[in-house]
Amino acid sequence: MAARRLDGVACAARIREDVAPRIRAFAGRHGRPPGLGVVLAGRDPASEVYVRNKIKTVGDAGCRAELFRLDDSANLGEALALVRRLNEDEAIDGILVQSPLPAGMGADAEQRIFDAIDPDKDVDGFHPRNVGLLVQNRPALVACTPLGCIELLEREGIPLKGKQAVVLGRSDIVGKPMAMLLLHRDATVTVCHSKTIGLASLARTADVLVAAIGRPAFVTREFVKPGATVIDVGINTLATKAEVERIFPEGSRKRVQFSAKGSVLVGDVHPEVEEVAGAFTPVPGGVGPLTVAMVLRNTVTAAELRATGKAAM
Ligand code: NDP
Repeated sequence: MAARRLDGVACAARIREDVAPRIRAFAGRHGRPPGLGVVLAGRDPASEVYVRNKIKTVGDAGCRAELFRLDDSANLGEALALVRRLNEDEAIDGILVQSPLPAGMGADAEQRIFDAIDPDKDVDGFHPRNVGLLVQNRPALVACTPLGCIELLEREGIPLKGKQAVVLGRSDIVGKPMAMLLLHRDATVTVCHSKTIGLASLARTADVLVAAIGRPAFVTREFVKPGATVIDVGINTLATKAEVERIFPEGSRKRVQFSAKGSVLVGDVHPEVEEVAGAFTPVPGGVGPLTVAMVLRNTVTAAELRATGKAAM
């Protein structure tokens, strides 16, 4: 039986609909919409696209979404000063600093920036306070990508309680919070990483497999138990014909796309997995739109929590 395609675009649209009345209610009560400030440092082309999508989605939903640019040569002090200014701005409820930051800001720049964001405005959920609350299953603002994955699983009726979940990747922004969210829904969770021995056989124990490693088409059919749900977080750009031909068969849509555009997007999951899985997320059109929808929802949540004074701990 063909695997079920879990449509992130449709799910994201439903999330936006659910959030719409909350935005209207907030604006009616407070005389201003929820506000998001997005900081973009440098000119990374992928970041430009992600930031444009986030600003458009949040703005189209009726919130205020404002872009604050720093150029490539900006130093960490300037970025921190901007974050502090946004922390003080009462009309800004959410702050998002797009990564990666320019290399010139230093190796620990992201951590220092995330630490500096007011945790009540931390719509990315990266501040240590929000990470701690998630670990204690008292979530306030949770990282958008794993939150989007959970939202999709729940809305699609994929059972998690008592199920085996395997997360490939242990980053602070995807793998670790994903594992926590699954654990708090009573899944039994295994987290794998680059030093894991026997990766494929561990992955094959999963009822729900989440791939977040940033390796194109790495997860092949031998990683997947027949009938499992496979969530593909990876976003990788293939820019050579040889790579595209290694993964996609002759006549496939991706090969046609590559011929037209010179590059294609592929997840961490190989397309052959569709023949084994019970359900899967496509790339693009799976986890990506959900991440953006969660930026919107977290902005509204931050605004509501700040307005009611419930955010401060
Ligand atoms: P990171 O590079 O921060 O982390 C990658 C993780 O994968 C690490 O834990 C690493 O292990 C592990 N890993 C790498 N190679 C292997 C391997 N061969 N076998 C097993 N584990 C491996 O990436 P992110 O978590 O930030 O992102 C992961 C992917 O998700 C990327 O493709 C990224 O573009 C995408 N992404 C997509 C989003 C969306 O909205 N759809 C949002 C965020 C990310 P170790 O810790 O040992 O190094």
